[in-house]
Amino acid sequence: MTNSRKNAVETVVNREVVPLQIAGVKVSDYYASNVFKDSAMREYLSDDAYKAVKEAIKAGTKISREIADSVASGMKSWAMQKGATSYTHWFQPLTGLTAEKHDMFFMPKGDGAVEVFSGDALVQQEPDASSFPSGGIRATFEARGYTAWDPGSPAFIMEIGEAKTLCIPTIFISYTGESLDYKAPLLKSAHFLEQAALPVVHLFDKDATKVTATLGWEQEYFVIDEALFYGRPDLMFSGRTLIGAAPQKGQQFEDHYFGTIPERVYGYMLDFEAECHKLGIPIRTRHNEVAPSQFECAPMFEEVSVAVDHNQLLMDLMERVARRHKLRVLLHEKPFAGINGSGKHNNWSMGTDTGKNLLSPGKTPKNNLLFLTFFVNVIKAVNENADLLRASIASANNDHRLGANEAPPAIISVFIGSYMTDALNEIEKRVAKDKYDELSNANLKLDIHNKIPDVMLDNTDRNRTSPFAFTGNKFEFRAVGSSANCSQAMTVMNAIVGKQLLDFKVEVDKLIKGGEGKEGAIMRILRQYYTDSKKVLFEGDGYSDAWEKEAKKRGLSNVKTTPYALDFYTTKKAKEVLVNTGIYTERELDARVDILHHTYSLKIDTEARILADLITNQIVPSAIEYLNKLITNIKGLKEIGIAASASKAQKETATEIAEHINALKVAVDKMQAALEVTHNGKTTAEHSKAYCDKVIPFFAIIREHADALESKVDDSIWPLPKYREMLFIR
Ligand code: ADP
Ligand code: MG
Repeated sequence: MTNSRKNAVETVVNREVVPLQIAGVKVSDYYASNVFKDSAMREYLSDDAYKAVKEAIKAGTKISREIADSVASGMKSWAMQKGATSYTHWFQPLTGLTAEKHDMFFMPKGDGAVEVFSGDALVQQEPDASSFPSGGIRATFEARGYTAWDPGSPAFIMEIGEAKTLCIPTIFISYTGESLDYKAPLLKSAHFLEQAALPVVHLFDKDATKVTATLGWEQEYFVIDEALFYGRPDLMFSGRTLIGAAPQKGQQFEDHYFGTIPERVYGYMLDFEAECHKLGIPIRTRHNEVAPSQFECAPMFEEVSVAVDHNQLLMDLMERVARRHKLRVLLHEKPFAGINGSGKHNNWSMGTDTGKNLLSPGKTPKNNLLFLTFFVNVIKAVNENADLLRASIASANNDHRLGANEAPPAIISVFIGSYMTDALNEIEKRVAKDKYDELSNANLKLDIHNKIPDVMLDNTDRNRTSPFAFTGNKFEFRAVGSSANCSQAMTVMNAIVGKQLLDFKVEVDKLIKGGEGKEGAIMRILRQYYTDSKKVLFEGDGYSDAWEKEAKKRGLSNVKTTPYALDFYTTKKAKEVLVNTGIYTERELDARVDILHHTYSLKIDTEARILADLITNQIVPSAIEYLNKLITNIKGLKEIGIAASASKAQKETATEIAEHINALKVAVDKMQAALEVTHNGKTTAEHSKAYCDKVIPFFAIIREHADALESKVDDSIWPLPKYREMLFIR
C-alpha cells in the first residue's frame, strides 16, 4: 500500500472507543435542559412577557418593543445562568446549511463592562450577509438582509466544547421583505394550510381552533473513519466517492440491516443523541440501515417548523460529534456507488388542538368520514401536483437516487395499501355519481379503524419502493434527500394540500347550498376525487421497468435530473399553488429556482474538477508506475532468454492498462472542454442543463476506466482508500 493509505488503515485498526460524555444518566434528567422552554420562560419572564410570547406562538401576534426588551432580559438571565457569554441569530439560508453570527453580551462601560441584550437585538439583526445566495433579489451593493425572531421556535443554547451560545431561531429576509431562507416560506405554508384546513375540520368538529402540519423525519447516514475520509479528496470536497470499485461483498447478504451496531459507532450515536436531547430534539430510534456502514435515526414527530429546525440542528450536531469520535458522518444521498444511498423519509400529517390526527382513521364511521376527507384530499393534491413534489426534492445529490435504479423512482405515485384501495373502490361503486342516497348507503362500510393498523403493517413493510406511502396514520414522503433541508418538500406539501382543501370546501358548500345533505355532499365529492386521482395510485414495484412503461401510459412525469425537474417550478400550476396562495411572491419563487439551478451547476463543476484532478494526479501516475513494472518484467524475461509466450499475461495486462490510461486522458480532456461550453448559456437554467447534458456523461465513462484500473493495478501502490476499507473496517 502507499504509505498514506497504509497509515490510514493502521490508524483505524488501532482506534480506541471514545468514552461517552454523558454515561449512566437518565435522559429525563437533562432533556431540553438547554432550551428556553415553557418552564424556563415562566421562571425568567414577567407575567406580561410570558403571556405575550405565548400569544405570539399561538396566534402569530406581534410583540411590542417594551415586551421584547423584557423577554430579552429574561432570556439573557437564563442563558448566562447556563454559562452562555454570547448570542446569535440562527437561520437557514438557501445554502442548505444553518448560519450563525455571534455577538457577545458584554459591553464596555466606564472602566469595566456590563452584559446587555436588548429587545432590538432579540427581534431583529442585520448580519452582513451579502455572500448568501439570493438569486438576484439582493445585489451585493444592497447587501442588507435581516434576520427576524421566530417566537414559534424556542431559543436554545448550543454547546461547542466548553463554549456556550444562546441561539435565537430567526427567519432571513431582504431589505424589501423578500424571503431569503427556507424558514419563512415554510411558516407561511403552514399558516396557509391551517387556514384552509380549519373550515373543513369544522364540518366535523366545531371545537378545533388550530390545525398544525406535523413532521417526523427519518435520517439516514453513513459513518466512516476520519483517517480514511482524509485519504479521499472526492469525499472531502464533494461528499461522495467519484470513483472506486465495488467490493466483492456489498449489501447482497443484507447482513447489516438491523444488525448489531459496531461499538465505535454506537458510542458516537449515544453521544450525538445526548446532545440532541439537551436541545429538546426527541430522537428515539437508531438502527443499522441496508448498506454496510449505513445507519438511521428518527425522532417523535413535531410541528413541522420545529421538526425542520431540529433536523437542521441534528445534522449540525452529527457532524460535530463525529469529529470527537474521529469519525465522519456522510449525509450525502449517494456517497458510494453500487450500494444503497441515503434518504430522509418525511412522515407528514395534520393535527388539531382538539387532539385529532386528521390522517388517523376514527373509531366510529362518523369520524371516519373526517379521516376519509383528509385522506382523499391529500391523494387528489398529490395527483394534481406530483410534478411540484418532484421539483421540491430535486438536487444534484438526489439525482443519484431518484430514477437511478435505486429507491425511490423519479415517478411520483401514491401507495395506500390494499385495504384502503378496497375501501375507496367500495365507495366508488356504492355512491351514485349524481345523487347520494343516505338510506341505501347507511350500511356503507366506514368502520375502517380497527383493521387499518394491522393491514398497513403488512403492506407498507413489503412496499419500500413507493415515493409517497400512506402508513396507517400519516403519509410518508420518502423521496426527500438525506442532506436536504426538509423545508422545501414540506412547504410544497402544505401548499398543495391547503390549495386542495380550499377547492374542496367550495365544492361542498355549493352542493349543500343546492339542497344536499352534508354527508352526502362530502361522499359524492370524495368519490369523484378518487375516480379523478386513480392514475397516481400505484401498489406495485416502483423499481420495475414495467412501472416506468405503465406510468408513461398514465401520463405521469418521470424526470430524472434536477435541471429539468426544476422547470416544474416555473409553470402556471406552480404559480397557482405557490404564488397565488401567498407563500412566495413571483420574484421569490423565480429567485429560488435560480439559486437551485446555480447550486446544481456549482456542484457538478466542483465534482468534475475533483475528478479530473484525481485521475490526472493520482490514478494515472499509479497506473503508469505499475505499467512500468510490467514492462521491466517483460523486458527482463526476454533479456535472460525466456520465451516470449511466457510473458503473455504481463503483455496483455500492460496493454489493457495502457488503453485505460489513454481512454482516461481522452475522457478527462473532453470533460474539461465541456466545462468551458457550459458557460455559453445565458440563464442559470441553461447553464445547469449544459452541465447535466454535456458534463455528467463523462463521469460514468471516467469511472469505468478508473475502476477497471483499480482492479488491475498492484494493490500496494493504489493511492486511494478502497471501498472495502472505508465500509468494512471498524
Ligand atoms: P415506521 O418506522 O414504520 O416508518 P413509525 O411509527 O416508527 O413508523 O414512525 C416513523 C416516523 O413517523 C417517526 O418519526 C414518527 O414520529 C413519525 N410519525 C408518527 N405519527 C406521525 C404524525 N401523525 N405526523 C407526522 N409524523 C408522524
Ligand atoms: Mg418509516
